[in-house]
Amino acid sequence: MRHLYLNGAWQSSASGESIDVVNPATEEIIDRVPAGSPADVDAAVAAARAAFPSWARTASAERGKILAAAAELLRERSDQIARIIATDMGAPYGVAMKVQTLMPAGVLASYAQMAETYAFEGGQVGNSRIFREPVGVVAAITPWNYPLHQVICKVGPALAAGCTVVLKPSEVAPLAAFALAGIFDEVGLPAGVFNMVSGYGPVVGEALAAHPDVDMVSFTGSTQAGRRVAALAAETVKRVALELGGKSASLVLPDADLPVATKVTVANAFLNSGQTCSAWSRMIVHRDRYDEAVGLAVEAARKYTVGDPFDEMTRLGPLVSAAQRDRVIRYINRGQEEGARLVAGGTDQPLDRGFYVEPTVFAGVEPGMVIEQEEIFGPVLTIIPYTRGEDEAVAIANDTPYGLAGAVWAGSEEHGVSVARRLRTGQVAVNGGQFNMRAPFGGYKQSGLGRELGEFGLEEYLEIKAVQL
Ligand code: NAD
Repeated sequence: MRHLYLNGAWQSSASGESIDVVNPATEEIIDRVPAGSPADVDAAVAAARAAFPSWARTASAERGKILAAAAELLRERSDQIARIIATDMGAPYGVAMKVQTLMPAGVLASYAQMAETYAFEGGQVGNSRIFREPVGVVAAITPWNYPLHQVICKVGPALAAGCTVVLKPSEVAPLAAFALAGIFDEVGLPAGVFNMVSGYGPVVGEALAAHPDVDMVSFTGSTQAGRRVAALAAETVKRVALELGGKSASLVLPDADLPVATKVTVANAFLNSGQTCSAWSRMIVHRDRYDEAVGLAVEAARKYTVGDPFDEMTRLGPLVSAAQRDRVIRYINRGQEEGARLVAGGTDQPLDRGFYVEPTVFAGVEPGMVIEQEEIFGPVLTIIPYTRGEDEAVAIANDTPYGLAGAVWAGSEEHGVSVARRLRTGQVAVNGGQFNMRAPFGGYKQSGLGRELGEFGLEEYLEIKAVQL
């Protein structure tokens, strides 16, 4: 059984209870983490509160040095950490290494550098001098799908800004967060600056969101839980940042390069077995090129070999849990009941054990169907035809409660950008533009509040003070 990380030391939970960690490829229990309690949250918040004044006063360059050392250790241990993530979360080793480990190590390094270069002081407005100060004690609540990246997107900027942190990692796939806590311990982060309480959302997460000594809660997860966190935080008027779900569109205009658009859309929809908040899970294609697009998508989907995360041939690992697999299967059944046409994959169990789902593609999907509106969070691509012009395609893309990400494929970059501007969503890739880990990431509408990554992500953790002279 592992321990909580409180006030610079590994400690037992006051609850004495534990949560099993399961390998989704083998269905075996591989570890146990503490099921934290409200008393543990009180201890963690007290430690973070006590450590805050001194950490906030520490020169930002000094904070940056400690974070740089942690980023360096993450890189050095990337093989070990990628193995942890492939084992408790199920991402294929290559994805676990590149996207789930090296990317967050890069994000942490970027915040280490920003701590040294960002202008926390020095702004002037008339007779007022402007200071940017850390918001205080931050509660970070994170999901299982990118279990290290989501943590670093919060903890990196919060620590760089001078905040102290209590992290509650997901109870599903929590082991990378334990590895990170070990690294912070090793690099000499002062006691209380970073604390970690593992456990269930309704117990540990809610105690943090409601805690009067927490100044800000930064949450990534489902819209439903985010709503609850925001309601609890409102009681003490905490700052709230929310990174929630998505149902993003890949909008293919008639003059786009269809083979490239389809291949990249399928890859994006199936990355991490479709368990990506920004997945382009709806492909919107003009009726004139629709059949061709469906054929290309089916061909691409067939190349996604399902299998063990450590097998080099594997492109699609298991879903994270039995519950998640069952949820995705229910959506695949629902899609067929609604009259959508299953053209690849389906509900068959591809392997004898493990929580696997076949790479699945639905054609004949109509706007308003449940599989077109709700976040499935599995390897399921829906392809929706449009018959009239661009306005109709944009209206379909915008017609969900979400607004996290998206793609536009057009004959020219300029045309792509003009359509991208019409999407009510926080990020858009034009003609396959690469993910940028310094660009602001976050949602419009019910996909969230606030932005992570880059300088915008740092500023979420800063208060602004004006001193009149
Ligand atoms: P989840 O909402 O079930 O859990 C997320 C975290 O919140 C976990 O740590 C969980 O324990 C905690 N939690 C659950 N209920 C809570 C409550 N009542 N109060 C406080 N905390 C609570 O989500 P999940 O299943 O872990 O992750 C999948 C969801 O996360 C998807 O909807 C996905 O789109 C979203 N997500 C969003 C982003 C983004 O950046 N927008 C990134 C990754 C995942």
